[in-house]
Parts: sequence; structure tokens; C-alpha cells
Amino acid sequence: MIQLLTFDLDNTLWETEPVVAAAEQTLLEWLDVHAPQFSRQLDRDARRALRQEVLAAQPELRHRVTALRIAVLELGLRKAGYAPDDARELALAGFEVFLEARHALTFFPHCEPLLEQLARHYQLATISNGNADVRRLGLEKYFKVIVSADEVGLSKPDPAPFLAALERAGVEPQHALHVGDHPVDDIAGARAVGLHTLWFNRLGVEWTGTERAHGEVCCLSEIPGWLENYKG
Ligand SMILES: [Mg+2]
Repeated sequence: MIQLLTFDLDNTLWETEPVVAAAEQTLLEWLDVHAPQFSRQLDRDARRALRQEVLAAQPELRHRVTALRIAVLELGLRKAGYAPDDARELALAGFEVFLEARHALTFFPHCEPLLEQLARHYQLATISNGNADVRRLGLEKYFKVIVSADEVGLSKPDPAPFLAALERAGVEPQHALHVGDHPVDDIAGARAVGLHTLWFNRLGVEWTGTERAHGEVCCLSEIPGWLENYKG
């Protein structure tokens, strides 16, 4: 019997790419005002190269999207000629601008009514590799447990974030089901820890992963009915 539902966030409860692209644009516009040397000194290619340079020096940041974004920005600001203290301060302020804009998102249809309904019957948790925070979105009332790769230090499909959610909820993996859009990060990752899995296949694409999920839905509204019929 399923007691705990763990949810991926990005591209499961909302579409991520447009909002991240818009947030990056908002940040660039903020930098043009507050750190004009950044765009003047670094063209698009130079800005793109920053991420690889940071990851080469600090590969562990691959799992920490927030620290990685701040480090990339800080390195860029230093390269643009800002003194280390100023670069740090501007990077932290700029990241806040990005993060605020990153939360200006639109939930997929049925998202909030679904969570409200499910929270009456199950414990709910989030397990996200990204830096969207349900607390900033007014969804925290539905989730007993909130796990992010940022905070655990390892991202899905590593077992660590799944295990953290199970431990905090006090639920064994055979009584938990993970819902997510990504065949590897969500489905293979959760399966490896022994959770049941539900693939959120919003666009109706072909399965590309290894072992299939226990179920598949293309709309959030299908989840309660699927759960009722699931005999796993
Ligand atoms: Mg996702």
C-alpha cells in the first residue's frame, strides 16, 4: 500500500525551460544596470564558457545548482574586472534577482487541486534537482517533506535524495511512489531505491529509458484514478 508520494518539480508540476530562460534574461538586464562591465567584457561565448571552467575546478557543484550559478556569476564578474569582494556581493544579489524571476512560473493544469486532493490521503514530498522552492510558490502546505539536490549535495538519479525523502517521511521504499518526467533521474533513480514509479509523460513521447515505470500518465488529473487502480 502506497503511503508516500514523492514528486519531481521541474517539468512535472510546471514547465521549466521558458521560465529559466526568462529569469536568465532578467538577470542579464539587472547586470546591465548594476554591473555594466559584465556584458561589456564577456560576450555570449565567454559567458557560456564560465560554467565549464567552474565545474572543472569544483566538480562537486554539478549537484548544487544554486552554488553553481553563484560561482559562475562570481567568476564572470571577476573576469569582467570587478574586485573579489564586489564580485561576490554582486553575484549574490544577482542570484536573488534570478531566483525571484525563476519562481514566476505557471503550474500545469490541475496541479494545485491535485496536490490538495492527494494530501488528504498520502504524505507528499518533493525531490528536486533544481532550485525552485515550493515555499516560494505557496505549495508548501501540501508537502510534509521537501528535499532538494542543492541541500543533499547529490542529485537524482543518485539514491541520496530519494533516501533522504524516505527517511524524513519515515516510510519504506515499497510504500512510496515517485512521480516524475525524467526517464533516468526520476524513473531509473527511484526504481533503484525500490520505490514504485509513475512516469509523467506530458508530451506523449516514446519511452527512452531502461526499465519502464510502473505506470504512465500524460496529465496530472489522471494521477488519482491511476493510484486507485494501481495494485503494485
Ligand atoms: Mg523534472
